[in-house]
Amino acid sequence: MDLLSTLVDKGLRRVPPTREEALAVLAGPDDDLLDVVAAAGRVRRHWFGRRVKLNYLVSLKSGLCPEDCSYCSQRLGSKAGILKYSWLKPEEAAEAAAAGLAGGAKRVCLVASGRGPTDRDVDRVAETVRTIKERNGDVEVCACLGLLSDGQAERLRAAGADAYNHNLNTSEAAYGDITTTHTYADRVDTVRKAHAAGLSACSGLIAGLGETDEDLVDVVFALRELDPDSVPVNFLIPFEGTPLAEEWNLTPQRCLRILAMVRFVCPDAEVRIAGGREVHLRTLQPLALHLANSIFLGDYLTSEGGAGRADLEMIADAGFEVEGTDRVTLPEHRTDLVAVRRRGAGTDLAPNA
Ligand code: SF4
Repeated sequence: MDLLSTLVDKGLRRVPPTREEALAVLAGPDDDLLDVVAAAGRVRRHWFGRRVKLNYLVSLKSGLCPEDCSYCSQRLGSKAGILKYSWLKPEEAAEAAAAGLAGGAKRVCLVASGRGPTDRDVDRVAETVRTIKERNGDVEVCACLGLLSDGQAERLRAAGADAYNHNLNTSEAAYGDITTTHTYADRVDTVRKAHAAGLSACSGLIAGLGETDEDLVDVVFALRELDPDSVPVNFLIPFEGTPLAEEWNLTPQRCLRILAMVRFVCPDAEVRIAGGREVHLRTLQPLALHLANSIFLGDYLTSEGGAGRADLEMIADAGFEVEGTDRVTLPEHRTDLVAVRRRGAGTDLAPNA
């Protein structure tokens, strides 16, 4: 069998490719790019049909972070011209979420800058989760608050949060080059804590940090080990005022290959195109829908995303459909797994869990 037939065959059976096969997806010539997209597209359609899940990001707290992640415009000493503010009130966050839900989003991602939440912060976010859930019973709420301490994931789960996002970002070997104030192991630990508390784990990467193909393959295989339900793929936006401001090294073709590789390694996970979609995929964004089954609608954390309406038009024009709240995103075998984890976690489950 040739490489792409092998990868499709494995993807349909949830068998991981070898490292060499994953590396070959990244390294192939532009001549076969559409063949790669078509092959990964078959795997995507097998597990997720032509549905596109829309997510909406609400930034609860912005800037003012003591950590030094070199890709981040909110890092300590960042000179990037971003909004800085401390904790939206639950009511304000619910109002912000309503805009995304009206646009068709079915998941709200509540994001706060910082190393990790204090217990008081968790109380605040728990209240926000409850407020959003009271108004929109069907919405999925994901929290993204940084490194978690013991017991915090359980409290978020008890408040009704469905998921927790914490990205690995890059390979273990390269991690020290992008951040010195916390470790790769700290990040792995938080993803495990979220999993163990019965939250659906969301963990992904950032491409374009100056990493090698080996680093990309390493981080995606590490993610597969952790088994997150969703894998956001960010493409670095090199913000002025951050150490990576000059790292413009992604092309639309490269982004498609990265998304295809992630799809082959994590065939049945929700692969989400996150930051940098417009800047780096540009006019090839519709092709990326054949690989990823999930995108953010509208604005991102500290950068302008495409207008929500343009995203909806692109989805329809490319022959895809927005996934409604009546559809379960994940394939059945994964949904069962989440349910088992929740039962095992022994948390005080919210009624809509
Ligand atoms: S990624 Fe998070 S922890 Fe790192 S600097 Fe940005 S806000 Fe702080």
